[in-house]
Amino acid sequence: MSTAKVQTSVIGSYPIHPDTMELMHGYFHQTETSWNSCIDTAVQDMIAAGIDLVSDGQTKDPFVQLFTRKLKGCRVRDRTEIIDKVEYREPITLSDQQYVKQMLPKKKGLIGVITGPYTLTKSCVDRFYHDEQQLAFDFATALRQEAELLQQHVDLISIDEPFFSRELPPYAQEVTDRVVHDLSCPTRLHVCGDVSSIVPELLEMPVDILSHEFKASPKLFDAFAQYDISKKMCLGAVRSDNARIESVEEIVAHILHGQKIFGDAIVQLAPDCGQRMLPREVAFQKLHYLVKAGEKIYGR
Ligand SMILES: [Zn+2]
Repeated sequence: MSTAKVQTSVIGSYPIHPDTMELMHGYFHQTETSWNSCIDTAVQDMIAAGIDLVSDGQTKDPFVQLFTRKLKGCRVRDRTEIIDKVEYREPITLSDQQYVKQMLPKKKGLIGVITGPYTLTKSCVDRFYHDEQQLAFDFATALRQEAELLQQHVDLISIDEPFFSRELPPYAQEVTDRVVHDLSCPTRLHVCGDVSSIVPELLEMPVDILSHEFKASPKLFDAFAQYDISKKMCLGAVRSDNARIESVEEIVAHILHGQKIFGDAIVQLAPDCGQRMLPREVAFQKLHYLVKAGEKIYGR
């Protein structure tokens, strides 16, 4: 049994959705407090489940619009359209993080979650740049400003780049570095999906911790086992795409298997991905059993 401190964490989103009135009020009156009851519920669930490193739950918007709605050059319709040069206009998630921070018990940590520049690029309809790489780097420059603000308030910054598993651009490392370079807090890169063919590139990324969906894709263990693990790992240990609640014993077995590959490199346990699409009670129970499984292996 290892005694290393392994923290339970989340990837970002939690299934609390504002009702229509809250949404209308928030968008049209631009009040920062409109969504606070949604944030309260998400954070209180994470704390009650026993999670060490919580997020704000990303309750306002899906993870693309959450950022593009507040960036210059973006017009949010069904999808975000890029209609001008992308630039930072104002803090995006800062006030939410500050709000969560003041409600957290001392022992709990806070994750600042940033949707990565490449994923934003691939999720938008580009009517202005016609140059994917330039758009990605302009997103990165803007997100860097958000990261600089966030680092003073959070314990970890997580960059979410699900599109890296679909297609890893040759500039992946450089565009990520533009966001995270020399930040004062630890950094994590979350890439869900099948990353088995890009493991060497992931191990070279300029972040401290890698996060992948090992529960849905156990073949990732074999892919990583072929390399020296030069990063700390956040082990995806319950599925986010499936409402079946894994038992504590099943999660324990999964973590023990992960230990065989990663040993002490495992520093965090988390769901495979954000839990936005799950029923709330299922999301909660998965987090709670994840915490219980972690305690069985690593102690409290
Ligand atoms: Zn994900």
